[in-house]
Amino acid sequence: MRNFSEPYPIAVVGGGPVGLYLGLCLEQVGISYIVLEQRSAPRPGSRSLGIHPVSLELFDELGLADNFIRNGIKIQQGHAFTNNKKLGSLSFEDCPLPFNFILALPQHRTESLLEKALTERNPDSLIRNAEVTAITEHNQKIEITFKRNGSTNTIESAYLVGCDGKNSLVRKHAGISFKGQPYPDTYIMGDFPDNSDFGSDAAIFLCNEGLIESFPLPDDRRRWVVKTAEYINDVTPEQLTSKVLHRIGHTIDDTQTSMLSSFGVQKLVAQPIVKDRVILAGDAAHVISPIGGQGMNLGWLDAQDLADTLTQIFKNDFQARSILNQYQKRREHAVKNAIRRAEMNMKLGRATKSPFWRNRLISLMLKAPLSQLMANIFTMRGIERWLI
Ligand SMILES: Cc1cc2nc3c(=O)[nH]c(=O)nc-3n(C[C@H](O)[C@H](O)[C@H](O)COP(=O)(O)OP(=O)(O)OC[C@H]3O[C@@H](n4cnc5c(N)ncnc54)[C@H](O)[C@@H]3O)c2cc1C
Repeated sequence: MRNFSEPYPIAVVGGGPVGLYLGLCLEQVGISYIVLEQRSAPRPGSRSLGIHPVSLELFDELGLADNFIRNGIKIQQGHAFTNNKKLGSLSFEDCPLPFNFILALPQHRTESLLEKALTERNPDSLIRNAEVTAITEHNQKIEITFKRNGSTNTIESAYLVGCDGKNSLVRKHAGISFKGQPYPDTYIMGDFPDNSDFGSDAAIFLCNEGLIESFPLPDDRRRWVVKTAEYINDVTPEQLTSKVLHRIGHTIDDTQTSMLSSFGVQKLVAQPIVKDRVILAGDAAHVISPIGGQGMNLGWLDAQDLADTLTQIFKNDFQARSILNQYQKRREHAVKNAIRRAEMNMKLGRATKSPFWRNRLISLMLKAPLSQLMANIFTMRGIERWLI
């Protein structure tokens, strides 16, 4: 165990998927850091499930991709339906090799794999059961206080990175506002044994009553996401399965429900993302609608960019301000695109009384020449460079 009296160049608050991956990137570029995480283990239950090719490419650079692929399910195509008719299919086959698929892996398993890789490379890098409670800044140094096993500890760092999620203490401490709004959309989702005929394919049903999404999971299970007219408190498996049966006539096997939840969606962006020596990444910097499955992947892109940014800063400290401004601009651009793409996905999935033109549009988007552009958009290609 490291001696906490030693100052760190970088302290990372939050060892969720983004903080753990940032640790791996800093390890790779040889910058000393510490990750403080309040939980004793990854949060059980699966929120995120999609790992996009852009992230697999980043994982590959760190020698991680093969292990993730061994643990997940490769989604190589998706099918779009109305309540009772097929509109078309979208294949990722022609996307750049070798990652021409989206990998389905529940978030807690993703976090466990990242943690294993990080602690194998540096056993002292992650401090669990460490709840950060106070942050103070003086003389270009940041003092971070955390509680651990009944004692209070303080460390010092040159830069502080908040990877501490939507309710970020780091963001609040820095006085950074989190601006945005909720959308009217609400959903329920659950994981069940897979009794569908879709195998490793994804399926999206653009029903008149609202969207249903269905994704493969490891261990012969399947995730079902169902749009609801309003937020449902204390959702039961029956509420989800009856909506699926009513809208598309499929009977879900609900004998072993492994995860069930209700969620509303919102867009929130930190303004600014960087303030003095405090930098935000992941959900601490931006929360976007999960429809389209981009949030965690966007956080990994932040982390990789930040590791490059910090490498430049430690070579040219006198230019730190302008280097950090550029990080902020790049991240703002990527977040705007991800928000636009998520909004497009949500709009297409809303209940409608006149689906004719929406369905025509989807059929068109799933055919050449537009289908390759759609495959690129759905796999998060160009999120940092394109205008959409
Ligand atoms: C229903 C749903 C489905 C989703 N599906 C997808 C998907 O398919 N694909 C996708 O890319 N994204 C998806 N997302 C989004 C994804 O879950 C988040 O973007 C991702 O978890 C963000 O990771 P993070 O590390 O930034 O934050 P978090 O996962 O919130 O992790 C933050 C960590 O910081 C720790 N922490 C907080 N405060 C402190 C403190 N004071 N001291 C120490 N530690 C602290 C927390 O314990 C936590 O471990 C989904 C989200 C939802 C709600």
